[in-house]
Amino acid sequence: MGAVKASPQSQLRLLELADLDADLGRLDHRRRSLPEVAELARLGTRASELKDEIVVTETELGDLAREQNRAERDVEQVRTRIDRDRARLDAGQVSAARELANLQSEIESLHRRQGDLEEVVLELMERREGLLSRRDELAAEQDGLAAEMGELTARRDAAFKEIDEQAGKASEQRGGVTADVPADLLKLYEQIRDSRGVGAAMLRAGRCEGCHLNLNSADLNEIRAAAPDEVLRCEECRRILIRTPESGL
Ligand SMILES: [Zn+2]
Repeated sequence: MGAVKASPQSQLRLLELADLDADLGRLDHRRRSLPEVAELARLGTRASELKDEIVVTETELGDLAREQNRAERDVEQVRTRIDRDRARLDAGQVSAARELANLQSEIESLHRRQGDLEEVVLELMERREGLLSRRDELAAEQDGLAAEMGELTARRDAAFKEIDEQAGKASEQRGGVTADVPADLLKLYEQIRDSRGVGAAMLRAGRCEGCHLNLNSADLNEIRAAAPDEVLRCEECRRILIRTPESGL
């Protein structure tokens, strides 16, 4: 590791590189933590819940419609029987007292049955109305959600575009800087950046800007004695330590 040597100018460029990498890191973090992204995920969950609820409601409405049809057909049958019995009665076809009584009692019981069935139909209609208004509420919420998600998507995409433009510029600048840094120094920088997030730091007033630790006088003396093209590392954080006029040497 100690074998890497580079001119002070090349070493200084690592500070530019570290700044650009910090910018790129911030942009990447901003892109991933945009509030619109989290909000869209939340609304997306609600949208799929709504879709399921609407399917359930539609299925219930279908079942209910079939049940109502059946009940209405039953009412119709009872009505037909009542009409038929009445017609027999009115036509004077039945004359025997016992038969007459039977017919009258059948008509009465058919009326009761009709009443019961009509009540069932009414109940089913009420349930259907409830479900219809529930479905309308869900559909309205779905429409509102779609509009909200559309707006959020547009806002998110605008933010993405802005971030990507800035990142594009920073990447381009970074390319220009790395072209000026010798390959072995760049490799060392990238290795440290991979493991520590930041590859190089300035030595400012006797302090490593990477780990914010003050170097002791023995270390500082060693640095003073080092040749300008020697690539130094912070003893504490192992980042490349860059000497500048502000280093306090
Ligand atoms: Zn350090």
